Amino acid sequence: MKWLVVGAGSAGCVVARRLVDAGHEVTLVEAGPALRPQSVPAAISGDDSFAALDEPGRTHRGLMARRTRRSNPAPYLRGRGEGGSGAVNSMVGLRGDRRLYESWGWSDADSCFERVLVPTERAIPNEVGRITRLFLDAEPRAELAPLTRRGGQRVTAAEAYLWPVLNRLTTVPDALVDRVDFDQSGAAVGVLLADGTRLDADAVVVCAGAIHTPAILLRSGLAESGVGDGLCDHPAAALTLQLKDPAGARGLTTSGLADLDPVQLLPVDHLGASNSPDLAVLLVALMRPSPGSGTVRLAADDPSVHPVVELDLLGDDTDVSRLCDGVESALELLGSPGFERAVDEVYIDDAGTTAHTLDGRAAISEWLRWRGADYVHASSSMAGALEAHGRVRAHEHLLVADASALPAIPNVNTNLPTMMLAERFVRQWVESDA
Ligand SMILES: Cc1cc2nc3c(=O)[nH]c(=O)nc-3n(C[C@H](O)[C@H](O)[C@H](O)COP(=O)(O)OP(=O)(O)OC[C@H]3O[C@@H](n4cnc5c(N)ncnc54)[C@H](O)[C@@H]3O)c2cc1C
Repeated sequence: MKWLVVGAGSAGCVVARRLVDAGHEVTLVEAGPALRPQSVPAAISGDDSFAALDEPGRTHRGLMARRTRRSNPAPYLRGRGEGGSGAVNSMVGLRGDRRLYESWGWSDADSCFERVLVPTERAIPNEVGRITRLFLDAEPRAELAPLTRRGGQRVTAAEAYLWPVLNRLTTVPDALVDRVDFDQSGAAVGVLLADGTRLDADAVVVCAGAIHTPAILLRSGLAESGVGDGLCDHPAAALTLQLKDPAGARGLTTSGLADLDPVQLLPVDHLGASNSPDLAVLLVALMRPSPGSGTVRLAADDPSVHPVVELDLLGDDTDVSRLCDGVESALELLGSPGFERAVDEVYIDDAGTTAHTLDGRAAISEWLRWRGADYVHASSSMAGALEAHGRVRAHEHLLVADASALPAIPNVNTNLPTMMLAERFVRQWVESDA
């Protein structure tokens, strides 16, 4: 059978590889550049994820999202090119809560996790940045995070899944998919690229991520309810730390975290070369938010125009209250002697407003409703439009298997759960002959 996979990100690489393993003919089409064994940019394999984000062509520049109903749209990061967001992300690699997966009907979550080929390892002590070290000392629940690396180098899904089979599939990098092509019965028969090229297939799997998968399907004329609805991210709050002494060389951006269920605290040791070396962040993220109510809509019927993204975070008072608890814990931690010695000031925005203004829960809640941040974990924007295992309702041979298909946002960082989903769906397609 001839399959066409759209998007070579974390999920698309899993899908392409497993279809090749099952003996299918596969074409993998990706909007951004290739990522090949001999030419991985040092910024991608290295420690500094801000450098990876700065690598030319590796993000969907110009994409914006509004976080809360009160905030203005601001840039929203998504990876681009083979490896997708997993080639530019912060490498935290967590599997998530078995009970949550069971509640989704994923009784096979363990075996899906075991099939994921992207490895994880924890940072060695001399790689851990100063703020993370202080954090590990001050917060009893803090630990070194598993990172999607091997031997200190980032491992993307492109490396783990695609590289071993590059001679057994067709890759088409630098090719923007405009829309899916259907026959008269509504069955998918291929895709149309932005340059007008038509690529035929017996089945199309859209893995363009939680923002671009619904955009492609909306351009394809899918007006069914659920396409681009239910978008979710982990609502977050960023406390920016002005350090007394600038950090040394910019090494690992993140290497530790604390699970304070329902919030996660994540220290970010530096903010990359385009920011001052005396800045760090303590991020507070709500990992069990209420169901997503965000949307992805088309701004124009033109694949080169970014969609309109409304994350609609923190519309729920319970979410605000739980994130507020997390911010209080983080501020308490920053008041501990180690942090007091290292941190000059804590800012809550880039206009120089300090955390001293957060005097009480009412002030924190108000700040969150205006300045609530995201965790770049876009999820679930197709969940309402899909049948079991990513089948698109009313369209034969059209499937979705990426973060957009997650039934809800997982309670951990979304990269490994997205690959688990892809492993799960593709196994079912192969076993049932799609
Ligand atoms: C900056 C950043 C930091 C993150 N940090 C972490 C972390 O530390 N840990 C973690 O677990 N998660 C993290 N995430 C989230 C995680 O990386 C994503 O959840 C995961 O990669 C999603 O996989 P995906 O396959 O759904 O989408 P992606 O990996 O984003 O892949 C989608 C692919 O589709 C391509 N595409 C889009 N539109 C088209 C089109 N029209 N035609 C052709 N191709 C197209 C894109 O270019 C991209 O390559 C982070 C994300 C970002 C952006």
